[in-house]
Amino acid sequence: MNYLNFINGRQVDSDTHIIIDDPATGAPMGRVAEAHTTHVEDAVAAARQCVDQGLLTRIKPAQRGRWLHDIADALRARQDEGARLLTLENGKSLSDSVDEINEAADYFDYYAGMADKLEGKSIPLGPDYLDFTLYEPHGVSAQIVPWNFPVSLTARSAAPALASGNAVIAKTPELCPLACTLIADACADADVPAGAFNLLCGYGHKAGAHLVGHAGVDQIVFTGSVKTGQAIMRSAAQRAVPCVMELGGKSAAVVFDDADIEGLLDSIRWGIFFNSGQVCSAMSRLLVSRSRYEEVIARVAAMVDTFTLGPGIDNHVVTPLASQTQQQQVLAHCAKAVQDGARVVCGGNAPEREGFFVHPTVFADVTPDMAIFSNEVFGPVIAVTPFDDEQEAYHLANATDYGLVAGVFTQDLSRSLRAAQSLQAGQVFVNEWYAGGIATPFGGVKMSGYGREKGLEALYTYVRTKNVAIRLNR
Ligand code: NAD
Repeated sequence: MNYLNFINGRQVDSDTHIIIDDPATGAPMGRVAEAHTTHVEDAVAAARQCVDQGLLTRIKPAQRGRWLHDIADALRARQDEGARLLTLENGKSLSDSVDEINEAADYFDYYAGMADKLEGKSIPLGPDYLDFTLYEPHGVSAQIVPWNFPVSLTARSAAPALASGNAVIAKTPELCPLACTLIADACADADVPAGAFNLLCGYGHKAGAHLVGHAGVDQIVFTGSVKTGQAIMRSAAQRAVPCVMELGGKSAAVVFDDADIEGLLDSIRWGIFFNSGQVCSAMSRLLVSRSRYEEVIARVAAMVDTFTLGPGIDNHVVTPLASQTQQQQVLAHCAKAVQDGARVVCGGNAPEREGFFVHPTVFADVTPDMAIFSNEVFGPVIAVTPFDDEQEAYHLANATDYGLVAGVFTQDLSRSLRAAQSLQAGQVFVNEWYAGGIATPFGGVKMSGYGREKGLEALYTYVRTKNVAIRLNR
């Protein structure tokens, strides 16, 4: 089937198409109309017109909320179609795809309720003045999305942007654009104003680069790699366009000697093997108190042994990576780890079968001088390192350029709070990796980026404050 761009409320084809492969087989499974620079021009013109005519702002804010609820309902109505499409283009398990479509719908519902709650404040300046603040949307919000959670990440940025009155232009990832088109379909069903939500299915270095450099764009929200983020920040600097940067990570779980091992194993299962480790906030490092070190490694290896491997459509635990390039990059990281002297507990290679699989991999005895300690792999690979005391644990956890998330596993409340204060990360999980949800703010420190998505906090990512100071008549 041919999937299309969505510009100014209409589906738009192209004279060229991007062929999408099924990572479980390597065979083509669909195609999408490639967005060219002319499509970008049309999308920016449509979004600008929506902003300039006040189609999202010169109305009662509650109406934006009603549109968002309708988008959520229309997305849920497409759950089965969307989940199947997402699994076939991305490789992830069908049940994870169902969760992703539902999470996308949840973002729209969550922010729907906030459309009329962006309240300014009044500031006391004495009897001669009345002073108050207003929150205004940026205007046209350009949003660049990666392929690991393409549908939920599109919703994560589009929902708060629309709730606060911005027009959105989302650029889908070239590897997995198809299921994102369901969000455009849902917007059409919900009758959102033309130009309020536009979807461009082009390549990053062409359509994406043209979009982020466009003079008609007022804000850039980027989720992806550090390298691309840096290129976008350079481009945005030319016009001082505000950015949100949601970048990569190399996040560590710190396991103290009193950790509950069953809870820890469940967290490792989700933390690094969910979505085959292609998660920005994956638990890609495990720092373990030396007294429990070999026990934890043995238990993780035994757990990995129980995983089934196969196509996502059959709901296996170990599903293919999203592309052959991704598979080869992960295998190269594994080869380097072996070369650097890491101990292979399991995996480190690919099964001999069709599809872009990599065996779940555990490297032990990883030291800070090894590349696998600091480099983001974006695959099902965990690096395990022992520590002797609390200070060493925090030092090791903080010893990378990244700072997206971190975790601590302990029964000691005071120690968990000390960890929360000491770990350099945008969010700290205690006794459960990925604790939290769409209502909890998310974003990085250091090279993991800046700005916050999710939660009430994200609403303020999409507005700017204007102060109004009135001199009263005497
Ligand atoms: P990527 O940077 O290669 O691509 C991300 C997006 O940027 C794609 O849509 C791509 O087409 C686009 N792009 C590429 N070059 C561009 C350019 N010059 N101008 C504009 N757009 C351009 O990243 P990826 O490989 O798709 O995603 C993996 C990375 O994303 C990992 O580092 C991961 O940690 C990160 N990530 C971060 C978060 C987060 O919330 N912090 C979430 C998911 C993924």
